[in-house]
Amino acid sequence: MKIVVCVKQVPNTANVKIDPVTGTMIREGVESIINPDDLAAVEAALRIKEQSGGEIIALTMGPLQADKALRECLAMGVDKAILLSDRLFAGADTWVTSLVLSKAIEMIQPDLVIAGRQAIDGDTAQVGPQIAEHLKIPSVAYVSQIDVIEDGFIVKRDFEDRYYRIKVKKPCLMTVLKELNKPRYMNVRKIYQAFQEGLVVVWDNSYLNISVDQLGLKGSPTKVKKSFTKGAKSAGKIFDVSPGEAATIIIDKLKENYVL
Ligand SMILES: Cc1cc2nc3c(=O)[nH]c(=O)nc-3n(C[C@H](O)[C@H](O)[C@H](O)COP(=O)(O)OP(=O)(O)OC[C@H]3O[C@@H](n4cnc5c(N)ncnc54)[C@H](O)[C@@H]3O)c2cc1C
Repeated sequence: MKIVVCVKQVPNTANVKIDPVTGTMIREGVESIINPDDLAAVEAALRIKEQSGGEIIALTMGPLQADKALRECLAMGVDKAILLSDRLFAGADTWVTSLVLSKAIEMIQPDLVIAGRQAIDGDTAQVGPQIAEHLKIPSVAYVSQIDVIEDGFIVKRDFEDRYYRIKVKKPCLMTVLKELNKPRYMNVRKIYQAFQEGLVVVWDNSYLNISVDQLGLKGSPTKVKKSFTKGAKSAGKIFDVSPGEAATIIIDKLKENYVL
């Protein structure tokens, strides 16, 4: 079984700051991590491989620094890592991101593509299903359990108040929740191997051969009108009281404002 895992490198914070002048994300001084749902995707792929054999390829689109995320995947046990990086990809919205990823996946021809449900920075949850649309393969989102069967998988697809068990044939794509499993730690021996030269292969657009009109800002149908960090409405008031008194004060305030 050949499995591609889509991994995104994200800033290690849910509190992303936006530059008020340029409207872009402030990445300086923020540590980068593998998106938490994607770690679950890597772990899921490793468990499927342990059960059914095969090969796992970690794939990311990003700047050259994103190779760190791929090396961490190698240290967890994936077999190969491919970084899709080209200045032409800069400014990509989710549609262009998923197009670039899908072109690479088309070349790899996997049986299964696993993505995270949602990235903690962009937060759209669009990229996984869009890849499936580009590739014209079935997809299941919000997966919280995967069982391998002969011609595909039986997965548990979560909803807020219920779940479905869905049978899906290979080749297919699923987006997984971080609750799916507990990702393993990187293996010390593999960490050493993963950080050696030449293990992460870089594919640029001369390899993928996507028309320049379909890439970057130009190819992106999404236009961001304005982005901003929500500020506090007022300074607030600090009460130095016991938890019981604090609860009373909060309830009184909520009643005063007709919330309760
Ligand atoms: C007009 C516009 C311009 C933009 N310009 C830039 C830019 O210049 N630089 C920039 O970094 N971002 C840019 N972005 C943001 C970028 O489009 C999104 O970060 C990206 O498409 C992923 O969307 P998301 O974070 O909502 O991921 P989601 O859809 O929430 O992610 C779901 C899953 O998809 C997979 N996935 C998502 N992104 C990747 C990836 N890159 N590689 C591998 N797997 C992935 C992961 O498995 C992830 O868990 C721009 C967005 C817009 C709208």
